[in-house]
Amino acid sequence: MGVRIGILAFQGDVSEHIAAFRGALHTGKLEGEVFAVRTPEDVRECDALAFPGGESTTIQRMMEKTGIRSRLMDFSGGIFATCAGMVLIARRVEDDARIQPLDLMDITVRRNAFGRQRESFEADLQIRGLDSPYHAVFIRAPLVTAAGTGTEVLSTMDQHIVAVRDGLHMAFAFHPELTPDPRLHLLFLQGLV
Ligand code: GLN
Repeated sequence: MGVRIGILAFQGDVSEHIAAFRGALHTGKLEGEVFAVRTPEDVRECDALAFPGGESTTIQRMMEKTGIRSRLMDFSGGIFATCAGMVLIARRVEDDARIQPLDLMDITVRRNAFGRQRESFEADLQIRGLDSPYHAVFIRAPLVTAAGTGTEVLSTMDQHIVAVRDGLHMAFAFHPELTPDPRLHLLFLQGLV
């Protein structure tokens, strides 16, 4: 059966995450299945969970409405979080009291870190674990402003932390699901199997 990857499917770039993980399984010749997660019961079926980019306030509202929040806080599998997803899995969000993050990773996040001038941009990043630069797409991106001692910084941009790892968990300020390069998904999957 292989690894079971659930994509939190309330809002945001859900289909892109599904396609990216299916592509990465294929590229890595790994066994697995990828499916949408919307209920507390769905979470039980997952070895790994992806938290997509989108609008964190909207995703949070849906987590409360569906009662999935506490099940997510107890999740012990791998987590792959991008952009709004990174905001939601943080320990603290420093600039928006409306977000009550899930505390799945020991990071502090600034939600709208780049302001309107840099709403979206692309950059080639050096990422730990990859042997050549990764082309990253940033859209209304957050930043990691503090990371706990157990949290490994995978990448920085202008001295700001934009990618982190802690055991099975990885989080990105940008969107690996929006580019055709499967290397970050593969790195994550290889950490699970
Ligand atoms: N700034 C957005 C939020 O916090 C995230 C943007 C994105 O995921 N592209 O919801």
